[in-house]
Parts: sequence; structure tokens; C-alpha cells
Amino acid sequence: MKKVPFVTKEQLDAIVKEYPTPFHLYDEKGIRENARKVNQAFSWNKGFKEYFAVKATPNPYILKILKEEGCGTDCSSLTELMMSDVCGFKGHEMMFSSNDTPAEDFKLASDLGAIINLDDISHIDFLEKTIGKIPETICCRFNTGGEFKISTSIMDTPGEAKYGFTREQLTEGFKILLEKGAKTFGLHAFLASNTKTNEYYPALARILFKTAVELKEETGAHIKFINLSGGVGVPYHPDEEPNDILVIGEGVRKAYEEILVPAGMDDVAIFTEMGRFMLAPYGHVITKAIHEKKIFKDYIGVDANACNLMRPAMYGAYHHITVAGKEDMPCDHKYDITGSLCENNDKFAIDRMLPKIDIGDYLIIHDTGAHGYSMGYNYNGRLRSAEVLLKEDGSTQLIRRAETPADYFATFDFTGMFDKYTKEYK
Ligand SMILES: *Cc1c(COP(=O)(O)O)cnc(C)c1O
Repeated sequence: MKKVPFVTKEQLDAIVKEYPTPFHLYDEKGIRENARKVNQAFSWNKGFKEYFAVKATPNPYILKILKEEGCGTDCSSLTELMMSDVCGFKGHEMMFSSNDTPAEDFKLASDLGAIINLDDISHIDFLEKTIGKIPETICCRFNTGGEFKISTSIMDTPGEAKYGFTREQLTEGFKILLEKGAKTFGLHAFLASNTKTNEYYPALARILFKTAVELKEETGAHIKFINLSGGVGVPYHPDEEPNDILVIGEGVRKAYEEILVPAGMDDVAIFTEMGRFMLAPYGHVITKAIHEKKIFKDYIGVDANACNLMRPAMYGAYHHITVAGKEDMPCDHKYDITGSLCENNDKFAIDRMLPKIDIGDYLIIHDTGAHGYSMGYNYNGRLRSAEVLLKEDGSTQLIRRAETPADYFATFDFTGMFDKYTKEYK
């Protein structure tokens, strides 16, 4: 599918006058429309809730938009819980799905009344010791082990993943939790990431639904919700087909009617914890070409680098690039698009066919709305960029300012020794 940016060259020319590049730009309209479609896809299920995976785009302005669209949050850490709290999410509007969990994280999750999703059977005792009880509502994460296949194709290898309870541990864990006072249960699994098939959620749902029926029979536990977690992918590459969330919702409904309804479990709520599907397509990195270098290959140096968007450097991930205003020009130049880090993997694209790029051109890097800014870091002393929201009425709002040298020095500048710079480079 042809990839079209959500901003035009004209809009961008105005935006860059206000915010210097590089920055992350988010599309409020796209975020809202997509969230509504997700809710529509699962509207057949009374208790459905999407708990947005905060780690994908941890920005309070984004969380508030999603809250208005009926979403909750899925938190993995202390600070994500704090952010959800401050944004007004209450109690069961928050899931806490973490692993290798520090005690203070469990403590805050419990104090806020979030639904705690246990990653391991040993966490039952750890949680009880930490908060002095087992909450009435509790969730357990399932790891099916081995390979996860849909038809014959291997989607992922849960057997290699550090997460979750084994099947036997689920039965044992539910029994222990019941003894310790748990009243209602959830079951959760995340078996494959960035899936590009409408079959992923339905296949996962079948596994979780069957397991829930078994667990109810084995332990008598009342299972109130099933959390399909994240993993629904987006088409980063123009050759990839987008997932259709309406088809996915119908697929889950079919599994629900086949497995849960006949077992008398027709009150089970479906939860999801999508990050990528909720946000990735609705974010762009906007960056400017500042250098052209010709040695053994042709390089375009831009003012963003892997500190702003790590996925290409970290996983060799493809992110589509549009040269603003040159959408209709032939892609007859082959470039590596690079950032400034002293790491040769700091490339947003390798051997990419693009229109001829001139210094000063704006490059739009697509699908950066999830796991983009949030993976950023400070290598080479590079500073993380701003985040800007393109609102539905076409206006813009700064939703995170860019880091300054003062931010970078703040954690060790106990004596003001950097004052000569932190005052000037605000
Ligand atoms: C990362 C994560 C998600 C979100 O994953 P996406 O691929 O962004 O949908 C949801 N739940 C858990 C537990 C996660 O670790």
C-alpha cells in the first residue's frame, strides 16, 4: 500500500518555523479514528477494553486522548503507573503487566488499585509479602512454550521467552491464589510481536479460551477477563498488507462463541494491550538533510539520529521515508540516510531508492508513533527531541519539549559546574 504522510509539505513548512527539527509529530485525528475502530471491532463484547501499552508512547497528552476514546493503560513500571495516575486513570482502568518486578512497583500498582498481571508463580508469594495480601482481582500471564504456529508458519518461539507461567504452573498458581483470597481472575498471553495477519488474535484467543475453560474446571476459579495483550502489527513496508481490526474482532468473536459460550463463560470480558497498532502509524519523525557525503556510497546526513528513533539501528527495522514535497519525483537515487552517532548502525535507511535529496530538504520518517521516542537514549551526549501534536483542527501543540544540555547534565551537576553552558543553551 502506498505510504502517504499525514502532513503535507505546506503544513510542514509552517510547523518547522515553530519547532526546530528534529521532532516527533503525532496525528490526533488518526489516533482517535483508529481507537474508535478498535472499540467498534470488539463492541460485541460487553466488557471490552483496550489498555494502551504506555511503553510504546509514554506521553500524558497522548494518554489523555486515548482515555477520551475509552482506553485504559497497560503499565510495565513505576513511572508508567505514576503517569497513568496523573492522567486520571483510576483503579481497574490500569493493568500492571511487568516482569522481574521490583517490590516498589507492586506496591504502587496495589495502592492505585491497578489490575496486577503476575508474570511468574513465585510472584504470588513476593506480591503477598510486599503488599500484605493478594488482591481480589488478579491476572496470570501464560507462556505456551515451544513454537507458536498459525497453520504451518512459525510466528514466534515462546519457549525462548522469559515471560509467563507454564501451563502446569497456571493450575497450581490459580489454586494458591484462590486459597489466598483471590476472587476473580484474568488470563493473559503475548505470543508474537508485530504480527501481520488477521489470524493472530483469533489463534491466541482460542488458546486462551480453551485454557480458561480448563482452569475453571480444574480450580473453580471465576475467570472474568482474557487479555490478548499486544502484538498486532502495522505495515512498516509499503509491500505489507495492513491488518484489518474489524476482521480480527470478528475472528475473536467466532472463537468466543465456539469455546466460551458453550462452557457457560459468556460473561468474560476481552481486554487488549496494544501499543504499536494504536500509535505507530500516527507518528512521524521530521528531520532535515544537513549534509551530503560521497565516498564509497552516497550518504545523506540528517539532524535526527538513533537517539530519536532506535528501531532501525537496533533491529534493522524498515521505516518508510518520504522526502517532503518530492512525493511524485522518481526514486532514482540510492542513499544511506544517517544520523550523527559514532556507530555505523546509526542509519535510518540503507541503499534506499529516493528522489534526489538537497540539503535543507525535510525527510518524513513513517510509523514512528510507537516504540519511537520511548526507546530513545543519550549516547554520544545526544539529546532527545521534542514531541509535537498535530491536532484535529490543524493546529499544533508542543507535548514534550526537546532536551537541553541542562537536562543532560542535571543528574550529576551538584555544584553548578556546568552553569556556563546550562544558562546559555537552555
Ligand atoms: C510491549 C507490550 C505490549 C504492547 O505491544 P505492541 O507490540 O506494541 O502491541 C503489550 N503488553 C505487554 C505485556 C508488552 O510487553
